[in-house]
Amino acid sequence: MLTGKVALVTGAGRGIGREIALTLAEYGADVIVNYNGSKEKAEEVVQEIEGMGRKALAVQCSVADFAACGKMITDMLAEFGHIDILVNNAGITKDNLMIKMTDADFDAVIATNLKGVFNTMKHMYRPFLKQKAGRIINLSSVTGILGNAGQANYAASKAGVIGLTKSIARELASRNITVNAVAPGYIDTDMTQAMTDDAKEATLAQIPLRRVGTPKDIAETVAFLASDKASYITGQVISVDGGMAM
Ligand code: NDP
Repeated sequence: MLTGKVALVTGAGRGIGREIALTLAEYGADVIVNYNGSKEKAEEVVQEIEGMGRKALAVQCSVADFAACGKMITDMLAEFGHIDILVNNAGITKDNLMIKMTDADFDAVIATNLKGVFNTMKHMYRPFLKQKAGRIINLSSVTGILGNAGQANYAASKAGVIGLTKSIARELASRNITVNAVAPGYIDTDMTQAMTDDAKEATLAQIPLRRVGTPKDIAETVAFLASDKASYITGQVISVDGGMAM
């Protein structure tokens, strides 16, 4: 399904990003495994992908750093020749009710979750235009659609990702480049392990399908959007959330 394609997945050392990287490789893609702090985990992902007979490289870069994103993309274009699929998965939370949320917590979440998506898309814009083909998949969140008490910074960043996705989808559609967002619900990763038991139970009660999602649920949706099967889909937000945001 993705043979001959090269994918860049941000935050691919662990969690949902790891599963996306492995799933794209299962479908035949070579994968650039971006990480920020998880060097060893990213190298494990690379080994797994190489074990499938695909090419992979781990590359350190904070998506919040505009210049570093430019260098990563220039270096990886030189190494792989082309990048066909960009998955903006890297994300952080710094949850607190507004009364306790600091401006630094607000800025940090926006810098990684929203500006980080701009940073990689900006540096891939010209290469995609030249190729007259490309797939961009951005990770939003059910929280960006519904809002959530204690997550004003995160919800704002993820709602921002939706606006960014739709705008760039409109800019790039005539060049055969699709830009979509995936909005996960409650997925079992380190991010949600950090929630209190009460918050986990309250969230579970809001899921019509009555189960927590898996990274694989998200990865399969991303792989579909990256494939030719999704060539007539752009500017969409696909919720993969057990029905939370219907
Ligand atoms: P985790 O907390 O498990 O992992 C976060 C990932 O983001 C890590 O790979 C981390 O890399 C990477 N990352 C964080 N900051 C940066 C940075 N500055 N530059 C590059 N990479 C960075 O999160 P999940 O796997 O759960 O989430 C993945 C995405 O899905 C996020 O965008 C998240 O907001 C979204 N999402 C998750 C949901 C969930 O329920 N889990 C629900 C809705 C959306 P490293 O370890 O190398 O620092």
